[in-house]
Amino acid sequence: MLDFNNTKENCTGCSACYAICPRHCISMEEDNEGFLYPELKKTEDCINCGLCEKVCPNIAIRRYVDIEQKAYVALTSNYQIWKRSASGGAFSEICKAWGDENTFIVGAAWNGFYLHHIGVLGVQNIQPLCNSKYISSNVENVYAEIKKQLKERKVIFCGTPCQVSGLKSYLKKTYENLLTIDLICHGVGSPKVFMSCIDAINKQENDILKKYSFRAKRKFHEADYLTKLEFQTKTKYVINDQYMQLFIRQLCHRPSCGHNCIYRGKNNRQGDFTIADFKGQRYVLPQLSGSKRNYSTVVVNSEKASLLMPILKKNMEVYEVPLSSVIKYNSQFERQMWLSNGRDDFFEDYLRDSASAIAKWTKPFVEYKRTLKMRFFDKCPTIIRRLYLNLTK
Ligand SMILES: Cc1cc2nc3c(=O)[nH]c(=O)nc-3n(C[C@H](O)[C@H](O)[C@H](O)COP(=O)(O)OP(=O)(O)OC[C@H]3O[C@@H](n4cnc5c(N)ncnc54)[C@H](O)[C@@H]3O)c2cc1C
Ligand code: SF4
Ligand code: SF4
Ligand code: SF4
Repeated sequence: MLDFNNTKENCTGCSACYAICPRHCISMEEDNEGFLYPELKKTEDCINCGLCEKVCPNIAIRRYVDIEQKAYVALTSNYQIWKRSASGGAFSEICKAWGDENTFIVGAAWNGFYLHHIGVLGVQNIQPLCNSKYISSNVENVYAEIKKQLKERKVIFCGTPCQVSGLKSYLKKTYENLLTIDLICHGVGSPKVFMSCIDAINKQENDILKKYSFRAKRKFHEADYLTKLEFQTKTKYVINDQYMQLFIRQLCHRPSCGHNCIYRGKNNRQGDFTIADFKGQRYVLPQLSGSKRNYSTVVVNSEKASLLMPILKKNMEVYEVPLSSVIKYNSQFERQMWLSNGRDDFFEDYLRDSASAIAKWTKPFVEYKRTLKMRFFDKCPTIIRRLYLNLTK
């Protein structure tokens, strides 16, 4: 049986142990920092079968890469898809390439300000799953639902590598009709801290936030972390709201997302595809600098994924790039990351008084306004933007 008292450091909250327990003795409980951990609730029902320990990906990482991986940089040719996506729309295009109106597609979706994994039926319904949300998503009972759906139809699952790993471990065997997509992942933040930041945002604006979008886009790509805040009476775009200040400084990450994350490294990819932002554009594909849209990185980890590339090439602008360029410029793909030294101090303050901790560790946000130069360049043809960028580099 899992050592439930000793899982804190490495437990990713993937919920595989919770999902597999045949006696439903385990529940996922929120700790005081706001992260979910398994707890043995009904000790008397436990039959000591050991399944919870066997399924835990942390005990021994499983490897799924079955080909020589290839890396691509890609951008959807559909403007609406690009606009609703964090980077170049790879997730939506992969769903379109492999799925159809009868495919069960699972990803992270909002319910108010609560984030959880849900399944939707059909590629036409994936919009709520699109775009990055940088907090921990609760997978709830979705693994069991996926197992059920796999008996009848194709399933696509997209999540953090630890979630893909949890799902595969839970399923135990491989399914031809399952396609998995993981992300290059710098970690997830605390949903509880996120909620406290929403309170701070409301207080600052003296208004009520109705909707929060992490990677907003207006007409063109303006900034990687442009947040859209939709209040009761107004909408604001910002790049430094209270939550993002904490998240970027790695002050509110889950403990397992630091140097002990076992999913970094090219051989540890868990999905058929790995998708991410495209980093190092200026060095890897300088001809794309000045583009008005941002691109995705797509790493192909399996034969199944490789067979989809010809379809993706029809619907996306695609460039093959050396995998070494992903390793070099997208550091979370390979390199371990240390959480901030200040993390413990932040949480100590936060647990004492959440509102004053947010006020102490962050500054009020400032609205992000486009300068006259930006407005001018928005209107310019890409070739002029590129020329200007090259001249001023
Ligand atoms: C927590 C997190 C950390 C990331 N870290 C990096 C990084 O360090 N470097 C990098 O290059 N890219 C990172 N990404 C990936 C990047 O932000 C984009 O998600 C990726 O480029 C795909 O964009 P897209 O345009 O193809 O699709 P999108 O439409 O943006 O699709 C995003 C997919 O991610 C899933 N997703 C969103 N939020 C979560 C969540 N909280 N938990 C699990 N799944 C989620 C959605 O279900 C959807 O399927 C991260 C993403 C997340 C969610
Ligand atoms: S040992 Fe078996 S019954 Fe007991 S908690 Fe683990 S999975 Fe459940
Ligand atoms: S199976 Fe997942 S949730 Fe359970 S202990 Fe292991 S890492 Fe944590
Ligand atoms: S950094 Fe590692 S442990 Fe954290 S969410 Fe990403 S894959 Fe999971």
